[in-house]
Amino acid sequence: MAQTISSPVSQTLFGHPKGLFYLFFAELWERFSFYGMRALLTLYMVNVIFEALTERDFAAAAVYASYGSLVYASTVVGGRISDTLFGYRKSIFLGGILMAIGHFVLAIPNDYTFFLALAFIVVGNGFFKPNISTFVGSLYKDQDPLKDSGFTIFYMGINIGGWIAPLLCGWLGSAYGWHYGFGLAGIGMVTGLLFFWSGIRAGVFGDQGLPPNQVHLEEKVLGLKRQTWISVFAFIAAPIIAILLASYKAVGSGEGFFGDQNIVNLIFKIVGVFIIGYLGYIISNVSSEERKKLIVAISITIFMTLFWGFHELSGSVITLFASRNVSLTLLDAAQTNSLNSMFIILLALPISWMWTALDKRKINPRTPYKFGFGMLLAGLSFFVLAMSGKAANTEGMVPFTYLLIMYFLLSVGELFMSPVGLSKITDLSPQRIVAFMMGVWFLSSAYAFQLVGFIGKQLAIESESATVGGLDSLNTYIDGFDLISKYAIGAGLLILLIAPILKKLMGSVH
Ligand code: GLN
Repeated sequence: MAQTISSPVSQTLFGHPKGLFYLFFAELWERFSFYGMRALLTLYMVNVIFEALTERDFAAAAVYASYGSLVYASTVVGGRISDTLFGYRKSIFLGGILMAIGHFVLAIPNDYTFFLALAFIVVGNGFFKPNISTFVGSLYKDQDPLKDSGFTIFYMGINIGGWIAPLLCGWLGSAYGWHYGFGLAGIGMVTGLLFFWSGIRAGVFGDQGLPPNQVHLEEKVLGLKRQTWISVFAFIAAPIIAILLASYKAVGSGEGFFGDQNIVNLIFKIVGVFIIGYLGYIISNVSSEERKKLIVAISITIFMTLFWGFHELSGSVITLFASRNVSLTLLDAAQTNSLNSMFIILLALPISWMWTALDKRKINPRTPYKFGFGMLLAGLSFFVLAMSGKAANTEGMVPFTYLLIMYFLLSVGELFMSPVGLSKITDLSPQRIVAFMMGVWFLSSAYAFQLVGFIGKQLAIESESATVGGLDSLNTYIDGFDLISKYAIGAGLLILLIAPILKKLMGSVH
């Protein structure tokens, strides 16, 4: 295949490599499936899977956290397998197929296959997500000034998927039943794969994304080709992950040393210790110039973890709050998951123009300041949600406007941090560990879900009935949002306080 197709730069559209637009649609549909499913997930767990439990919120929070943590942690493994063996194309295909299987299994009305379905999505996302993002970068020459705007276009694709999917899957879910919503997510994933496949057929990827060594990949080991082993490994990983996801209960009695930690919590804790140890080792073994930049890279990764930890509550606690305590109009609770992406689509370009305009006047804030403001905005967004309690009616329902403003502020905060962070990691990390640092960056989303789980468990409402709501749940949520806003504002102020030091450490990197 590689010999017959042209170089990536030879086919362009609007000045960008034509391949970008195929990857744009492939990722749009993959995110459609991911976020369409996510919009239904917590509500489905609380109302169906764990319906019979009084502590159904707790169980749902724990599973949501394990799923989210593993779905992002798997990207580190998938990225590594792709870099060393499989190449982007095969990884994206395998990942997409596994994700589609996961969504279609969710479409089968059977509680027992639920965890296996989630596990397929975890493994599939590991192969799909990191590799399609890196594939985008590989279509451009190094230092190509168009690369940044290529990524902005790609981020738009992500959010178009994240915007329409909760609307459609949410509607199908409530009008016809959960499983139709999950089924549509599966159809979305297959559509994404078709776009990717048609890109390959059209030859728009040049010779990018092929395995680093095809001969090596086809060599037989224990009777099977290496590439077959990778698929076997993926299919074996799924049931193991399913068992981890199903082990949502605390390891101990819920008290004492283990507290309410489950196996996945403990695994992430232990791995976390190793990561910190390894980072410490790296920091002490680089030149002092590299060390300064690395400290900033690690700091912004930690800030990002905290931010996603608040942000990703949208798929759990905030969806439950929306379903129980918000007077919704136009959208139902699952569909409110589309608001974040909607604001990202509306604001991404204006905010990037704002940076350019400020840059011209030489007042574009340096990265640590942007992170500080981003965190403050997250704090402000939860402050608005906490304030909504004061406007609650006698049934404990708050006006929808508060949720709308909350998502607006959170999305602005996201745009101050997320797109900026990724490119800074590459600028701030020594070349020889840049891939490892990318892995750590992706792990920040994984660890964020551990925080989401912790908060979700604190705000779990125990009740005999899954239709709990109104005044029974209002105060728990409002107190929780109030506390989160204080932590986030505190963290934002702290970042702004140390920003001058980080700015110095960054040297010439903006
Ligand atoms: N919304 C973005 C995406 O889906 C980023 C999510 C994250 O890293 N937590 O790609």
